[in-house]
This record gives sequence, C-alpha cells and structure tokens, in this order.
Amino acid sequence: MSKERFEELRRQLDAVNLEILEVLNRRAELVQEIGQMKSGKGTERFDPIREKEMLDLVVDANEGPFPSDTIRHLFKQIFQASLGLQEEEKKSLLISRKNQATDTVVQVGKLLIGGGNAPALIGGPCSVETVNQMNAVASHLSGEGIHLLRGGAYKPRTSPYDFQGLGVEGLRILSETAKRHGMTCVSEIVRPDDVAMACEYLDVIQIGARNMQNFELLKEAGSVKKPILLKRGLSATIEELLYAAEYIAARGNNQIILCERGIRTYEKATRNTLDISAVPILKQESHLPVVVDVSHSTGRKDIMFPIAKAALAVGADGLIIETHNEPAVALSDAKQQLDLHQFSTLLNQLRESGYLKDTVK
Ligand code: PEP
Ligand code: MN
Repeated sequence: MSKERFEELRRQLDAVNLEILEVLNRRAELVQEIGQMKSGKGTERFDPIREKEMLDLVVDANEGPFPSDTIRHLFKQIFQASLGLQEEEKKSLLISRKNQATDTVVQVGKLLIGGGNAPALIGGPCSVETVNQMNAVASHLSGEGIHLLRGGAYKPRTSPYDFQGLGVEGLRILSETAKRHGMTCVSEIVRPDDVAMACEYLDVIQIGARNMQNFELLKEAGSVKKPILLKRGLSATIEELLYAAEYIAARGNNQIILCERGIRTYEKATRNTLDISAVPILKQESHLPVVVDVSHSTGRKDIMFPIAKAALAVGADGLIIETHNEPAVALSDAKQQLDLHQFSTLLNQLRESGYLKDTVK
C-alpha cells in the first residue's frame, strides 16, 4: 500500500470518528428529550423491553464486518451512557441546590430558619406530660427569648410498656401553652391520618427518625401548608434523607427543615453518633435549612456545649435542645434533658462564645 493511500485511509477514519461523535451526541439529545417527557422527576428510566427492541433492530440490520455480539456489546455501552445522562437529570430534585441556588427560609411565627438568619433554638421537653410542666418550661424558655416550643404527644417508644404520650390531649396542652407564652410549637405526628388534624394545633409538624421513610406520612406532610421538621432516620444515609424530603416537596410543600439527630453506629459512648459532616453536606446538596438535635444525638448533657458549638460552627441553622423543669422525673428521655438552669447556662455559654450573637429576643 502506498504511503498516500495509508494517509488517505487515516484521514477517512478521522472523518468517520467525527461523524460517529456527531451522531452519538444527536442520539444523546433525543435521549434527554425523551427523559424529560417520561416524567419530571424520578420515573424509572431503564426500560428493558425497549432496550431489547432497539438491540434486536440494530443486530438484525447488521451486515458486518462486526459480528452481532460485538454490535450488541457496543450498543449496550451506548445505552448505558445514555441512561447515565438521564440519571444526571434525575438528581436535580426539587430540594436540590441544582434546582434552587438560594437558601429556603422557613418562617415560623417571627422566627426565620435558614438563609443565614440567627440560629433558631427549639426547646422543650421530650414529652408533654402536664399543663404545669409545660407552663414551667415555656415560661422559662420564652423568658430566654426562645420562640419555638417542642413537646412530644405521640411518642415512638422502643418498649410498648413505656409512656406512649398523651395523644391529642398533649397537642392541645402544647398548643395552648405556646400561645399563652407568645411562642409557636412543634410536635411529632406518626400517622398520616393525623396530619390534617395536627395542623389545628401545631406550627410545625415533626416527622421523627423512626418515620423518616414512612412514605404515606411524608406524602400527607407534603399536602398540608405547614412547615415540616424532618428528622434523619436512625440508619438513613444522607441521600435517603434527601429523598424523604423530596417526597414532601413533590406534593407541593417546600417548607421543610432537615434535622441531623445522630445515626446508629457501634459507638456506645453516645446514644447515637452525631454525623457532623452531614450538616455541611446537606446544606451543599440542598437549599433547605438544617438543624441539629443535640439531645437525641448525644443522649448526654455533659458534652452539650461543645456539641452545640460544633453544630453551629459547621453551619447548622438551629438546634433542638430537650429541656424539662424536672428531668429526673421525666416520663421519657430523663437522662438527656437539661433542666431550666442548665438550659440557661448553655445559652449563656453559646452567647459568650459568640455563636448566638444575632438571636432574636
Ligand atoms: C423527638 O424528637 O421527640 C424524637 C423522638 O426524636 P427522634 O425521632 O430523632 O428519635
Ligand atoms: Mn426525646
């Protein structure tokens, strides 16, 4: 073969490569358009029947010199890369930063959570027990400038013999106490059917760790016009938490506060292991505010100050601090709840170290 012919063949090959490139990208554009039509988000993109039809079509049309197996292999690679393109789109969830660059700010009464506002402090007992107990706590917390009062009425307890909460009576006590002290309130709801009812009592509906993947509850929470405090599941990955939030957003409710409350690990020194890196990762991946529950994550009072500082240092938009007027006799989580004096001490320590400078009084 002459040198000229060799060079000519190489030039042709370069041209064919460019043609393949153009055709591949034209195919990719079609795939993207189909992907967008398949849903907005999340529809299962891989369609094995359609893939088989496409493969059969090209293999039937193949006249060589490539054998059918090679053609099949090459086209499978192309199909897989196309699916990857659609996966990229799928990642653009409603709650994703890719979808919204600015921070979502959740307003609860006059409290603004997220968007660089002063850290939102959520205080109150593990469980609503009595009117007197709630009054004692709310009176102290409101005096300290705390706006959002917590208290469980439906308690997801490990043992069925432990205090299960006062139910709707607990919601009523919480709500009336909060109003009496000019506060707003948050409590956990565990059944989808209770979400609408709970809206009458609560300013924020909490979905607890054990229910993070109760998808019917998430859907219901997405259908109401109340902020949702969504806690990370005991063994949930960050991605799973984000998908759980997406369930709520997909139903039209974008008032979501994410909560890192520690995850299950082999470590026994703390009740759960606070995944501190989840905070900046969640804030990077999503535009939603992120708060840290320093009580359930640690299960101990003696490290609350450094842990609270750490949470705020990595960018948490708020803290949940379980507080009881008489923790020693609390009906749940007695060990980890701060008493009123300890709450004030923690607050002062945080203020003095510059972490709460801008908190609204
Ligand atoms: C709570 O906040 O009352 C609670 C039960 O927490 P978690 O769901 O994080 O365990
Ligand atoms: Mn608790």
